[in-house]
Amino acid sequence: MENTFNQFDLNKQLLNAVEDLGYTSPSPIQEKAIPVISHGHDVLGIAQTGTGKTAAFLLPVLMKIKYAQGDHIRCLILAPTRELAIQIDTAVTELAKYTDLRHKAIYGGTGTKSQIEALQSGLDILVATPGRFMDLYLKGEIVTKAIQYMIMDEADKMMDMGFMPQIRKILEVIPRKRKNLLFSATFPEKVERLSEEFLEAPVRIEVTPQATTAETVEQALYETPNFRTKINLLEFLLSKDEITRGIVFCRTKAVADNVFKFLERKGMKEDEVRVIHANKGQNTRINSMNAFREGAVRILVSTDVAARGIDIQEVSHVINFDVPVIYEDYVHRIGRTGRANLEGQAITFMTPAEEYHIAKIEKIIRSEIPRKPIPTEVNVPETPFEEQQGILREIDNQRKREDPNFKGAFHEKKAKNRPKDQRTSKHKARGKKRRR
Ligand code: AMP
Repeated sequence: MENTFNQFDLNKQLLNAVEDLGYTSPSPIQEKAIPVISHGHDVLGIAQTGTGKTAAFLLPVLMKIKYAQGDHIRCLILAPTRELAIQIDTAVTELAKYTDLRHKAIYGGTGTKSQIEALQSGLDILVATPGRFMDLYLKGEIVTKAIQYMIMDEADKMMDMGFMPQIRKILEVIPRKRKNLLFSATFPEKVERLSEEFLEAPVRIEVTPQATTAETVEQALYETPNFRTKINLLEFLLSKDEITRGIVFCRTKAVADNVFKFLERKGMKEDEVRVIHANKGQNTRINSMNAFREGAVRILVSTDVAARGIDIQEVSHVINFDVPVIYEDYVHRIGRTGRANLEGQAITFMTPAEEYHIAKIEKIIRSEIPRKPIPTEVNVPETPFEEQQGILREIDNQRKREDPNFKGAFHEKKAKNRPKDQRTSKHKARGKKRRR
């Protein structure tokens, strides 16, 4: 059976939102947690960022609270930092886009006016840092009596940041009868104690990312400064005969389509390359899979839909055109090759914005992926202005995630790095990007 979000008891509004986000198959934590939360159990989730944990707790909760109702919050989500609070609230915006649910993130270090206004106008979901929650609660701005779901995200970080006193107070002022979900990247003793206090007969769900990658797989990493270099390098690698059967993994459907179109333009025919992803229709997908499995097609360009559940043996090469943001997918992806004692190669392309994710993946697989220099035959063009800005912005966001006090260097860089002619002609730069 194919592994899709249809296996869960989710309504059309949520399934459509998931589809818009381009999630084709649930991640392991989603597969495990969504049914358990839907059944009304408390959950203790041990999962790191990058596992898809946010959607794992949001989807079943959104399913339960469904639509806007009354004036008082029914779901409270606590997060240690303002960045995480904003990130969770953004995920709510995306997943609840086809519902009328009202939500807001509140956090310190900024004025209370708009936060209070949102609370007064009625909310269903509140995402909060513990300190700001207590401030506004003590001001009488938060009514807690309707809270049915209480979620703590990154509980270990909350403990480390010394939020325990505030959390204790919050637990005193919210209704006893409620569902509780606690997520933590690690499970030290203090989190264990908190979970005993806070959760009632919880189901423990742990995604221990597979620590080892198949030993018969040879891994390599190329530091590619930009998209165009990735394309050039891919073309070069595919021109070699040793890739007898390769899968090219891309993060999104759009990238997969782009890569496919590029290879087509380079003269690769239907018997050489196919693309599969969720938008392709079941039949087309199955046909392409079968053709690839039988060896009638040499290269398959794919999103992660092909990485799970579907057994394709004897892949000679896996090429990660993008670094997966769900880190376990790295292990899943490269597990396609080197099966049954066959030698395989897993090649990854990495832009500067993806270094952050590679560092996390290397932690999970507990080894460093060997770096390889880009072959001299491959043209390495300069990074277009807009792409460079996007990369810098992403790096800034990553640093903010790691360090709540980091203010961001992007704005200074922006002024300094921007060439004069482009400072006046934003549209020109944008047009260039589209024609790429
Ligand atoms: P999280 O671990 O919740 O921080 O999620 C990590 C990233 O994975 C986020 O960028 C999500 O948008 C993305 N994501 C979550 N679930 C899926 C899924 N099933 N398929 C693809 N991407 C996902």
